[in-house]
Amino acid sequence: MTKTSDIFKEASKTGRKYLLETEAKTVCMEYKIPVTNFRLSKSDDESVKFAEEIGYPVVLKIVSPDIIHKSDVGGVMVNLRSSTDVRNAYKQIINNVKKHKPKAKIVGIMVQEMAPPSTEVIVGAVKDPQFGPAVMFGLGGIFVEVLKDVAFRVVPFTEDEAREMISEIKAYPILKGYRNTPAADIKAITNILLSVSRLVTDYPTIKEIDLNPVLVYHEGAKAVDARIVIE
Ligand code: ADP
Ligand code: MG
Repeated sequence: MTKTSDIFKEASKTGRKYLLETEAKTVCMEYKIPVTNFRLSKSDDESVKFAEEIGYPVVLKIVSPDIIHKSDVGGVMVNLRSSTDVRNAYKQIINNVKKHKPKAKIVGIMVQEMAPPSTEVIVGAVKDPQFGPAVMFGLGGIFVEVLKDVAFRVVPFTEDEAREMISEIKAYPILKGYRNTPAADIKAITNILLSVSRLVTDYPTIKEIDLNPVLVYHEGAKAVDARIVIE
């Protein structure tokens, strides 16, 4: 049995409606979606140990079945550059969560590689009541939230259709490169769209996927956050 099916089974057995980020990223890895390197720690000492293994700078994040939007509760600390930073961030996150969500069950703190800043895109999946699962693509931030500049395709789709999806958003010229910003790796985004298409086809229990953001580079791309909602 694959890890992915174990993860979905375990989540539904315990009545959870969505996967932890650690679980969602494990699923992504199995579908060859690149994600930031990560470890799940249970103490501040362990966080420092993992940070040293991963290499600074790192990001610390709350892992809790009761917290969907981690930064809303002060559950994300980025750009941590030393063991002191990591210890402080660990304490700060636990305090923030206890203040904002006193009843939240804390599974641990995720330590992850800090992805260098770059163009942010969003890859998602939703279930249309009529057409079934569809994959969504757009640029991060105001492009999706304010301008609703997104493209959808019902799954499954071909590589050509994935490329078409990327090029049909209004913000496409930004991905093609402008001024001092080099062109984004369109092939890497295409592969992520195809992987998400395969994932939702294989697991009809998936209600929603949100890879937000995916950082795209001149070469390669990396999902820094992954949310999978199940039925
Ligand atoms: P939320 O649950 O609030 O969406 P995220 O995991 O998306 O939490 O983290 C919030 C923000 O922090 C992200 O939108 C991104 O800008 C930044 N971030 C999170 N993880 C990383 C990482 N590994 N590398 C770089 N930036 C990150
Ligand atoms: Mg996010």
